[in-house]
Amino acid sequence: MYEKDIQRFIDYVKIDTQSDDTSFSVPSTLKQLDLSHKLQEDLKELGIDSTLDEFGIVYAKFPGEEGLDVIGLNAHVDTALECSDKDCKPQLISNYNGGVIELGHGYSMSPEEFPSLGDHIGDDLIVTSGDTLLGADDKAGLALIMAAIGYFVEHPEIKHHPIAICFTPDEEIGRGPDHFDPVKFGAKYAYTIDGGRYEELACETFNAAHADVVLHGVSIHPGEAYGKMVNASDLAFAFDKALPAKKRPQFTKDREGFNHLVCMESGVDEAKMHYIIRNHDRALLEEQKKEFEAAKEAVLKEFPNVRIDLTIGDDYRNMKEKIDEYPECVTRVNAAYEKLGYPYYWKPIRGGTDGAGFSFKGVPTPNLPTGSFNHHGRFEYLSIGEFKKIKNVLIEILKA
Ligand SMILES: [Zn+2]
Repeated sequence: MYEKDIQRFIDYVKIDTQSDDTSFSVPSTLKQLDLSHKLQEDLKELGIDSTLDEFGIVYAKFPGEEGLDVIGLNAHVDTALECSDKDCKPQLISNYNGGVIELGHGYSMSPEEFPSLGDHIGDDLIVTSGDTLLGADDKAGLALIMAAIGYFVEHPEIKHHPIAICFTPDEEIGRGPDHFDPVKFGAKYAYTIDGGRYEELACETFNAAHADVVLHGVSIHPGEAYGKMVNASDLAFAFDKALPAKKRPQFTKDREGFNHLVCMESGVDEAKMHYIIRNHDRALLEEQKKEFEAAKEAVLKEFPNVRIDLTIGDDYRNMKEKIDEYPECVTRVNAAYEKLGYPYYWKPIRGGTDGAGFSFKGVPTPNLPTGSFNHHGRFEYLSIGEFKKIKNVLIEILKA
């Protein structure tokens, strides 16, 4: 028998909600709506009416003190593509002893392989049974939103901000914010509850661009190639070599940006290369774009008679520039952690988040944690201890 907040989490992970990046429908899979409907029922139980729009997004409002900013909360219903969530059978590990956890299906996990487990000795954990992911990403976020609101329902004497709620499908396939409507949502600023460790907060993403390179060689019968052939594959190798070797993803961390060759296709006549370019700092991203221009010049110097088409485009921007326009969404979080005496730090995300999409649609949205680890696979687990701390943080943030 679990307490109410955790029971909701258990109910949510038992519902299969995997999204599908090969589907063109909205949401990408209809089964995500099974959970959306369950969330609507749970909101109803808390006395909150909600709507489910044609894009599969649930919106709701929980009234608070008049005149205060409406604070939004968001989490996503879908689970990752890498591992199935069908027939997830969560298991409770009470008072974890620091040893090997036998998940089932021949899988186990230990603090040697997963050092975060070592931080949870004496904690209660929820783990998988080895054959699915857990889906704490992001069903722990959904359960946390319900837990925080449930607290204010149980404690009507505690004054709080008006709260806007939004549950989105298809985050894992990058379509979460596509149909997000800031007017329906109605929040001044918001938080996506979709992270890991309870101390780790994020209000920065990469700035993202890409480069497409087409290199045209000179094709001729190899038997007659002497002095004439220019193999486009050689041009591609030369191009990649002309870029800074240390800026590949495997050599970068923290705030270091990278140039990443995602794929290439090459023959004698023509070679195509697709790169993604990332940096938290916009000026540095512009510098990296220049490295591609320089690589093109270097190849042309070595092979003067060939043609190279280089196209560089922008993809998304660091959400920090939007969050900086409304610093209170960050200072409120700092104040909540400080009041509770919890450690915290802000760490730039080396990727994107739904919050970035929301921020550029006018709702600055930092990312808060869920207390879950090893996302997107069978070793995923939830720390109930951290979950409860984050519930306390949310309550502090929302208090009037
Ligand atoms: Zn997530």
